[in-house]
Amino acid sequence: MTTPIRRQLAILTVPAFNDNYLWVIHDGEHAAVVDPGDAAPIQALLSAHKLRLTAILLTHHHADHIGGVPALLAQWQVPVFGPRNDGITAVTAPLAEGDRFEVPALGLALDVLDVPGHTRGHIAYVASSLDTSWLFCGDTLFGAGCGRLFEGTPQQMAASLAKLAALPGDTQVYCAHEYTLSNLRFAQAVEPGNAALAARMDADSAKRAAGQPTIPSTIGLERATNPFLRCGEKEIVHSLVQAGRLAQGAAPVEIFAALREWKNTF
Ligand SMILES: [Zn+2]
Repeated sequence: MTTPIRRQLAILTVPAFNDNYLWVIHDGEHAAVVDPGDAAPIQALLSAHKLRLTAILLTHHHADHIGGVPALLAQWQVPVFGPRNDGITAVTAPLAEGDRFEVPALGLALDVLDVPGHTRGHIAYVASSLDTSWLFCGDTLFGAGCGRLFEGTPQQMAASLAKLAALPGDTQVYCAHEYTLSNLRFAQAVEPGNAALAARMDADSAKRAAGQPTIPSTIGLERATNPFLRCGEKEIVHSLVQAGRLAQGAAPVEIFAALREWKNTF
């Protein structure tokens, strides 16, 4: 018996709206789209690359992540993978943590993580069967930041981020927005002594100046520079206390909550 040769998988970046990224995973022939908030740029890309859509993957219910689903389904009869508990009626394959499934025609196995906080049923997808792992985390983890707490508690979000931070350091982080530079400005304000942060600001500023995305980042880079994964750092706690946003000796979840609140008004 011979082992079938799997075509090389690649990811295409599709900018949409002001600062969204829609992701297309493909093998040169078939494609799956992650969080298609808008159908038009996806249709254009599929047709330009002569790709056949085989699946839609959703992370949470916000319109800028699911708005293109009806138009895509009108042209392509494909399954819609998505969270079991986030109120998305279009989902045909409901998922929750512990589920593993194969993306139709791509032969790509994805593991599902529950990452509540931004919404109550938000999920993330991890592809760990590749040389380098991929993470599709929607609006949970961003470059140097994290999503707002619209439906969940600080406790939930902190636990969700800890789960993502525990993935291998070289995992590529495909989040859904280009917020990195604004997040880095906040990160530097709360942790000015972090040299890795200064280096990232230089590198990512250069990318944006050249019109390139700062995404994907990696879990390793986020661990080194993302304040929301670094709530235990002395300098971050000190900044919060100095700003009158935290009492001395606060619990980790209080530190996270204070940091998230500060970012909201930064
Ligand atoms: Zn969202």
